Amino acid sequence: MGAMTMWRGQQFERAAVSLRQAYVIVSATVFALGVLDAAEPEGSAARLAGAVQFLSSDDLEGRGVGTDGLDKAADYIASEFAKAGLQTELFDGSPFQVFQEPADAELGPATENTIEFIGPALEGRDEPQRISLEIGSDFHPMALGGTADVQAPLVFAGYGISAKDPQYDDYADIDVKGKVLVLLRKHPGQADKDIAFHTRRGQRHAYFITKVANAFEHGARAVIIVNDAHGVTQTRQNAENARDEEVKKLIARRNAFKKNETPTTDEREQYLNEIDKIIGRIEELEQQLSAGADKILQFGEGGQSSNWKTLPVYFAARAAIEPVVQSALGKSLADLERQIDHEFTPQSQVLEGWDAHCRAMVTHRQVDVKNVLGVLEGEGSLAEETIILGAHYDHLGNGGNGSLAPWTRAIHNGADDNASGTSTLLEVARRLASRPQKSRRRLVFIAFTAEERGLNGSTYYVKNPLVPLENTVAMLNMDMVGRLTDNKLVVYGTGTAVEFDGLIEGLNKRYQFDITKKPTGYGPSDHQSFYKQKIPVFHFYTNTHSDYHRPSDDFDKINVAGMLRIADLVAEIADRIDGADERPAYQDTK
Ligand SMILES: [Zn+2]
Repeated sequence: MGAMTMWRGQQFERAAVSLRQAYVIVSATVFALGVLDAAEPEGSAARLAGAVQFLSSDDLEGRGVGTDGLDKAADYIASEFAKAGLQTELFDGSPFQVFQEPADAELGPATENTIEFIGPALEGRDEPQRISLEIGSDFHPMALGGTADVQAPLVFAGYGISAKDPQYDDYADIDVKGKVLVLLRKHPGQADKDIAFHTRRGQRHAYFITKVANAFEHGARAVIIVNDAHGVTQTRQNAENARDEEVKKLIARRNAFKKNETPTTDEREQYLNEIDKIIGRIEELEQQLSAGADKILQFGEGGQSSNWKTLPVYFAARAAIEPVVQSALGKSLADLERQIDHEFTPQSQVLEGWDAHCRAMVTHRQVDVKNVLGVLEGEGSLAEETIILGAHYDHLGNGGNGSLAPWTRAIHNGADDNASGTSTLLEVARRLASRPQKSRRRLVFIAFTAEERGLNGSTYYVKNPLVPLENTVAMLNMDMVGRLTDNKLVVYGTGTAVEFDGLIEGLNKRYQFDITKKPTGYGPSDHQSFYKQKIPVFHFYTNTHSDYHRPSDDFDKINVAGMLRIADLVAEIADRIDGADERPAYQDTK
C-alpha cells in the first residue's frame, strides 16, 4: 500500500479522536469548575469561560477591523468594565477611544476586474488577436493597487527593481511612462547567496510594496506581477519535502504504536492525537501541492495599501503571460530570467505589438475602531501615578493578510489570540475593583484594537494617552494566555524594571508556574508600544501552537483553569506594584 493511500485510510481514526477530545475537554472544564469554585471568587471560572466563548463565537466574525463583530466585542467589554465598577465615562462620556483604520480593501465584481491582451493579427486574419484572462485561475487583482480602466503597450520590466547595493536597475534603459508592466516576483541572483539582495536591507527591494511604488514613480499605469521561476521550483520542492517528512513520521509513529500490544487509554489517546496532527499537516501540504506551485496570490495576500488609488496591480499566472512574451520576443519568461541571472543585467524591453487592456475596481475605505478603557481611581499621594493593564481584543476576521492559512476564507475566531487575554483582563478588573480599599495609584484597563495590524491600538494610545505617560509607571499585557500546557508560562519584561525579576520570582514561589523569563520589553504585542516610551512592562503568554493565526484557534482548546491562575498572578502583580512606595525603576533591554 502506498503511503498516501495508507494515511487516507485513517480517516475513521480522526473522527474518533475528535469525539474523544471533546469529551476530555468537557470533563476537564467540569472538573476545573468544581474544584475552583471552592477557592476562587464565586463563579469566576464560569464567567471566564463564558467571556472567551462569547468573544470567540462566530457571531463576532473573528473580530476583524471593519466587522460588526469587532464593535459587538467593544460593547461587551465596555459593559463588563462598567459592571465591574470601573469608571467608563472617559471620552465624551464613553469608554471608547476612537480612531480610524483602513478597512480591508474591497474587490469589485469580476466584470469590473479584467485583463485582456491585444496583439498582432494571426496569419490569415485581419482582426488583432485577443487573449482574455480568467479572474481566479489566471489572475487576481491585488489589494495593493487601485481602480482604473487603462489600455497601453505592454513592457517586460524584469524584477521591477532599482537598487544601489547591489547596483542593479530594471528601469535603467527603458521608458515605461504610460505603460503596463509585467514584473517578476523577488529578485535576481536567488541561487547566489553572496548577492546583496539576500541581506536584510537588500530584501526590501523584493517587497511588493517597494516594486509597486517604484513602478508608480516610473510612470507605469498598471502592474502585472508573476512568480519567478526559481520561486516556483522552490515552492514545489519545499512542499514535497515537507509532505514526505510527515508521511515518514506517520509511518514511524504507527509502527511504534503497533509494537505496543497493550496500550493504556492514555497512550492510545496520545497516539490518536499525534496521528491527527500529522494527518492535518499532510492534508494542508497536499492542498498546497494540488493548487500548483505557480500559485497566484489572492487579493489581500500581498498586503494592502491605498497609496496608489489609480494604479491597478495584479498577480497573474506565468502560463497566462507566456504566450505574449513568446510571441513578442521569441523566448520564454524563463529564458529572460536566466539571462538576467547569468549576466546580472536587466533584460527590460517592450513586448512589441502587444497592448494590455486592464480594468480594476479596488476600494479602500476608512473605518472607526476603538480602544476600550475603564478606570479605577487611586487615593492618596500617589493617586496621579497610573498602572495600565491591557490586552488586545481584535483578531483577523476572515483571515486574509495575517492568516497562516490564507487559502481558506474562514472565520478566525482567535479564542486564544486574544479572547483569552481580553477575558482575563476583565477578570483582573473585577478582582481589583472589588477590593474593599482603594488602590494607591490609578489603574487603567485597556482593551486594545487593531493589534494584529501592527500594534495600532496601543500605538495610538501612547500618542494620545488618557493620562500622562510620564506618570504611567508600569504596563501589564496579556496576549494568548489561554493554552497553559504543562504549567508553562512565558513572562516577558522581567528586565524592564530593577524590581521585576525579583517580583515574579517571589510570587511564583506560591504560584509554581514553570516560568520562562524573557528580560526584554520588546515583542510582538502591545506592551512594546509602552516599553518604547520607557515604561516598565510585563507581558504574559502561554506560548504558540499549531492553531496560531488559523481558523482552528477555537474555544474548545482553551484551558480555563490556567487562565484563572494567570488572572490571580496578574492581579497580584498589579497589587504589588501599586503597594510599593517607589514606582518601578525602568531599565533598558534589547
Ligand atoms: Zn495576539
